[in-house]
Amino acid sequence: SLYTSCLSSDATPADASKKVRSGSEEYTFQAEVNRLMDILVNSLYSNKDVFLRELISNACDAMDKIRFLSLTDKNVLGEGDNAKLEIKISLDKEKNMLYIQDRGIGMTKVDLIKNLGTIAKSGTSAFLEQAQKGGDVNLIGQFGVGFYSVYLVSDWVEVISKHNDDKQYIWSSSADGSFTIVEDTENEALGRGTLIKIHLKPEALEYIEESKLKELVTRYSEFMNFPIYIQTLKE
Ligand code: ADP
Ligand code: MG
Repeated sequence: SLYTSCLSSDATPADASKKVRSGSEEYTFQAEVNRLMDILVNSLYSNKDVFLRELISNACDAMDKIRFLSLTDKNVLGEGDNAKLEIKISLDKEKNMLYIQDRGIGMTKVDLIKNLGTIAKSGTSAFLEQAQKGGDVNLIGQFGVGFYSVYLVSDWVEVISKHNDDKQYIWSSSADGSFTIVEDTENEALGRGTLIKIHLKPEALEYIEESKLKELVTRYSEFMNFPIYIQTLKE
């Protein structure tokens, strides 16, 4: 299939999460972001569905952005698959990995560093406060920190991204206080957009079921303007 090769790797997720890639740079999460991730990754909160809604909504936002730019410069979309504004979700049951790929605007290296960890948003502390009071985690998106809800279901996440103005980079974090950034020399070229690789925690394996994902996607797609495809890579 067109992108199985970009997902395959001999390392097990546990090895890979500790893999030190040559040339990788390590960054410390902004303190409040770090506390937020700590709460989410250790959360016993049972309804974790919210993570998928947040990642899909980020993918749609990113595709809205590139579509908007394309109104004045059609070249930004590129050709072939690059121009197809869609979301692909894939499952690998052997590795307990979930992959979500979009053909949105993507993130430059600087975007990855700023947007995913070093700059606190105004909503971060407000969300922390209400989460600590036992408030509804489901509202995370309204506080502008929806991305981190992926750590409700995962202990290791990689964000591979390609923006038209930069090379392809890998952002990686096991929610242990820091993240790494490295130029991507191991995955297939995305063309443009973002691929999120999610290693599911043992207590979140319900999300490796196609039926579960289909149910959620159907629930959310009502509000989405882009097609979403789901496929299982290995049974
Ligand atoms: P919000 O969506 O409210 O801004 P998030 O925590 O969900 O907050 O995401 C933080 C930022 O990370 C987004 O504003 C966006 O700049 C960037 N981002 C996240 N996911 C993607 C994606 N799939 N493609 C491009 N940028 C993204
Ligand atoms: Mg968001």
